[in-house]
Amino acid sequence: MAGCELCRPARTTCWYAEFTEPFPFVIIECDSCDVPMAVLGAHRRAPTEEEHAILRRELGRIADAKYPDGWFFDDHMRQIPDHYHAHARPIPAWARPYR
Ligand SMILES: [Zn+2]
Ligand SMILES: [Zn+2]
Repeated sequence: MAGCELCRPARTTCWYAEFTEPFPFVIIECDSCDVPMAVLGAHRRAPTEEEHAILRRELGRIADAKYPDGWFFDDHMRQIPDHYHAHARPIPAWARPYR
């Protein structure tokens, strides 16, 4: 898809992981948010249920290591609504439960 920045993510940002099996997707640092983001390898609005589960699991691995105090899965697509991607955003300190 021409002009879609998620179809050709910039190699200049941090790439956490790149997958080709069982389907292509990458986990990279989001340029605008500075958080890990999983991006489907095909220009589609939504992943299948199975793809979603795998993508979420792999993003979770990276997010757990990066944000031990907590993070949340955010796949509301505001800027690029027709190419599936999901952010792992840290839970802000004020929203964390006491422990
Ligand atoms: Zn795209
Ligand atoms: Zn972002």
